[in-house]
Amino acid sequence: MALIIRNGLVLTFEPDTLGGEIIDNGAVVIDGNTIVRVGPSGQLESEYPNAEVLDAGGKIIMPGFVIAHTHMPYVLGHNQPVDFSQLRSFWDMLQKMGWEWLEDITTGEGIYASTRYAAMKMLKSGTTTVCDLVEAPNALPGPLEYSVRAIDEIGIRAQLGYEVSERVPGVSILEKLDPEMAQRGFEENLRLFKQLSSLNHGRITPRLGVHTAYTNSFETLKQARTYADTHGCGIQIHIAEIPRAFLVEKYGKSAPEVLEENGLLGSDVVAAHCIDLTDGDLEILERNKVNIAHTPMTNSLGGNGVARVTEMLEKGMNVALGHDCFFTLDTAEYMRYCYLVHKAHHANPMVIPPFQLMDMVLSHGAKALGMEHQIGTLKPGKKADIILLEPDSPTPVTPATVMSYFTMTFTGRDVHTVFVDGRKVVEDRRLTTGDEEEIKADCIAEGRALWKRNGISV
Ligand SMILES: [Zn+2]
Repeated sequence: MALIIRNGLVLTFEPDTLGGEIIDNGAVVIDGNTIVRVGPSGQLESEYPNAEVLDAGGKIIMPGFVIAHTHMPYVLGHNQPVDFSQLRSFWDMLQKMGWEWLEDITTGEGIYASTRYAAMKMLKSGTTTVCDLVEAPNALPGPLEYSVRAIDEIGIRAQLGYEVSERVPGVSILEKLDPEMAQRGFEENLRLFKQLSSLNHGRITPRLGVHTAYTNSFETLKQARTYADTHGCGIQIHIAEIPRAFLVEKYGKSAPEVLEENGLLGSDVVAAHCIDLTDGDLEILERNKVNIAHTPMTNSLGGNGVARVTEMLEKGMNVALGHDCFFTLDTAEYMRYCYLVHKAHHANPMVIPPFQLMDMVLSHGAKALGMEHQIGTLKPGKKADIILLEPDSPTPVTPATVMSYFTMTFTGRDVHTVFVDGRKVVEDRRLTTGDEEEIKADCIAEGRALWKRNGISV
């Protein structure tokens, strides 16, 4: 039976349209997992007199957010007591915080618990699709089985992959890379393919993970392209999150140059970070139609500078928002930081206007994941990934003010109801697909266990 979500402020968010169509007192009709109509409430109510009704009076009805780069198991590292005297550079952060103290000691059970928690928190704050990248070399083979089980259970939409990397746990990447490690990564991605084919609902899809240009040989990078072409799954990778000089010293070339020469780049690539780029590097990413997953908060944490996002957008490149799951899981915080940091960086209040920010976290995210015909806007024929917001605003939220609301007062706590694939996964701010307290307790227990492996007892 059809469901009509009525009497809301409907925001359709077609790309590059200053927010798309805005329908005051509007409605959306869904049937199964598909949006079938969007329009004025009165009209759609008379067209669908027998539909089930959900009243959205006082609420915004809009598409769910799409986050193009996450590492959900990173949740286990949240608030971990850190000896900052050991972290003098981004290198140290990567080696210690990222690998030694986190990824290298992550277990399958830890991945399951943290992914369930992260998916729950993201759904509750309006994110309906994520692109997740897992690295847990000491949990091979099989860590993605735990990711799939958690994602499937909680009900978020996801693309998923394991990071192909020649890095050897416990050994500096400056000393040694081992192609055999990369093969184990490919095998894990292949296992995921088989596992997903038995799920049958299509809400979780594979996307090959590749760590970086500097942790893989040219042969492995070429193999990644062949793999992605063979399976039609696209690639997710980190590009230029470390200073350009590192790769230039190693290869005499930058990361975009190395990746282009080895055939890895293309319109099916989602590249996180992309910070330290020359004009030539930027042109390479542009001409290869690479999708950018901008992660402003982690870039700032690492002292890595501000990515050239305003120039990318001016060039018409597809820039989406990612967040690494390193801080909060509330997309509103990353949106606001993105909205502000470029204004500060360029000393120009005109850059990243609100509608452009919304494009990044909606239609650009969908396009980055190759899902622009399925998600990212409210349009008949698209998947019913819909969120209802109840603005907690000191002033009226109207068609004229709603774009300002997203940049000024919106937080994830305003998210009231969430549908993914037509299924109501959050209702009245509570997860419907699991026991929130149990999910949180399980995550805390796994966090405690992981910290203990670092010699931290709490
Ligand atoms: Zn990342």
